[in-house]
Amino acid sequence: MNITLIFATNNQHKVDEIRKVLNNNFNIITLKEAGINIDIPEPYNTLQENASTKSSSIHQLTQKNCFSEDTGLEVESLNGEPGVKSARYAGETKNFQANIDKLLLNLKEKENKTAQFRTVISLILNNKEYFFEGICKGKIITEQKGISGFGYDPVFIPDGSNKTFAEMTMDEKNIFSHRRKATDKLIEFLKNYI
Ligand code: IMP
Repeated sequence: MNITLIFATNNQHKVDEIRKVLNNNFNIITLKEAGINIDIPEPYNTLQENASTKSSSIHQLTQKNCFSEDTGLEVESLNGEPGVKSARYAGETKNFQANIDKLLLNLKEKENKTAQFRTVISLILNNKEYFFEGICKGKIITEQKGISGFGYDPVFIPDGSNKTFAEMTMDEKNIFSHRRKATDKLIEFLKNYI
C-alpha cells in the first residue's frame, strides 16, 4: 500500500501518535514537511465542522489527498464542556496548564467526574470527504499525574486503566486512545478503498 496523505495539523504529538498507529503503510506528510505554515482556524461549534474546515483548507491549497482531526474533552457534569473549545478553554493562548487549572476548578464541587475524549477525522480522498469518529471514555482526577503526552493527559484516566494518559508510553496510550480508534477506522476504510 502506498498512499501519501497530508496530515493537516501543527501538533507534533498528534503526528507522532498517528504515525505509530499507521506504521509504514502510509506516507504521512506534515504541514511543515509540505512547506505550509498556517494556523487553521477552528471557528465552529462541532468537531466535525472544525475537522472539515481544516482538511478543506489544505486541500484547496495543495489539491492533494489529506486528512485532519479535531478532538474535544467532553465532561458529563459540565454539560459536555470544554468539548469543541478544549484548546481555548482558558483563553486564546491555548495554554495546556491554564486549561487543566480551569477544568479542575470547575469540577471541584462536582461528584460526577466522568468524561470522554472524542476525535473526528475528516479525510479528503480523490475530492470526496469522509468522516471517522473515535471515543475514549474515562474520568478526570483531582490532581495531575505524569509528564508524558499533552493537553489534558495528566488528569484523564481511561476506563480499564489506573494510570493517566500522561503516565503512559505512547504505545500504552494508543491502546485506549480516541485518536487511535478514529485512525483504525480510517485505516480500515483506506484498505477497503484500494
Ligand atoms: P484540537 O483542537 O483537536 O487540537 O484539540 C483540542 C484540545 O484538546 C488540545 O489543545 C488539547 O488540549 C486537547 N486534546 C486533544 N487531544 C488530546 C489528547 O489526546 N490528550 C489530551 N488532550 C488532548
